Amino acid sequence: MNKDIATPIRTKEILNKYGFSFKKSLGQNFLIDPNILRNIVSHANLTEASGAIEIGPGIGALTEHLARAAKKVVSFEIDQRLLPVLEDTLSPYNNVKIVHSDILKADVEKVIKEEMSGIEDIMVVANLPYYVTTPILLKLLNDRLPIRGFVVMMQKEVADRITAKPGTKEYGSLSIAIQYYVTAEVAMVVPKTVFMPQPNVDSAVIRLIKHDEPPVKVINEDFLFEVTRASFAQRRKTILNNLQSGLPSGKEKKGLILDALEKAGVEPTRRGETLSIQEFGKLADALHPYFCNVQ
Ligand code: SAM
Repeated sequence: MNKDIATPIRTKEILNKYGFSFKKSLGQNFLIDPNILRNIVSHANLTEASGAIEIGPGIGALTEHLARAAKKVVSFEIDQRLLPVLEDTLSPYNNVKIVHSDILKADVEKVIKEEMSGIEDIMVVANLPYYVTTPILLKLLNDRLPIRGFVVMMQKEVADRITAKPGTKEYGSLSIAIQYYVTAEVAMVVPKTVFMPQPNVDSAVIRLIKHDEPPVKVINEDFLFEVTRASFAQRRKTILNNLQSGLPSGKEKKGLILDALEKAGVEPTRRGETLSIQEFGKLADALHPYFCNVQ
């Protein structure tokens, strides 16, 4: 087996060889611990028939572990300076495709069709650039890609919010926006010392596995997310107050909101953080006739 890229010594050698300087603005904190990388990959349960999609290969630390575990790896990297480095470090692997692109602008579905035809099991596995963690996850979920799920590193604070359960202080509209599509759990908490340079925040790896069916069926998904965002706008306010301030003409529609809350079986004095995703679904459907397609 080839020597790991992600040892402190080899990483420094590679960085020196190419005169590479980290760009903080691109969230460049590279992993320098092969054990962590093996752990991340094991949480993805890849087989020799699987595909892996990576965002931000850096100098290839995680990419090579994915290349060893999966049939095909497609990696999206925004920083052009890393392309010659990756060509060098990943030269032992013939199952890796690097796509030079901003993941937020990429047509990932098209790339999957072109590069992973015939592959049935696809996971997104990445040490994400922290400045765009949430936009990346929401884009890849909204794109409804043919994937099984995600194993991704991010700042621990965001990991806690994504995986939060009702009744906790971390639970909010982000928890619902993600858990509508996937089951979400923290797979491991990761110390700062395994990165170069070390980030200022703590990190965690989360595992997201797509639901066969959403946990609640609603008339309009976008409206469900609008209702949840409004419900958490001011955490100390009751759900009634938040809906009145957050929904269009909510102030004038107090009676209709009260009616919808009653239909959904939600006490108007409750706070958003106590509602399950199923309750939000019922509430969104009860509010829908009063706020959507209104002439
Ligand atoms: N995978 C490598 C590792 O674990 O050592 C590097 C991870 S580093 C946290 C994030 C990587 O994402 C960097 O290589 C950075 O250049 C890249 N990146 C940042 N923004 C990106 C974007 N919008 N699209 C694709 N790649 C991006």
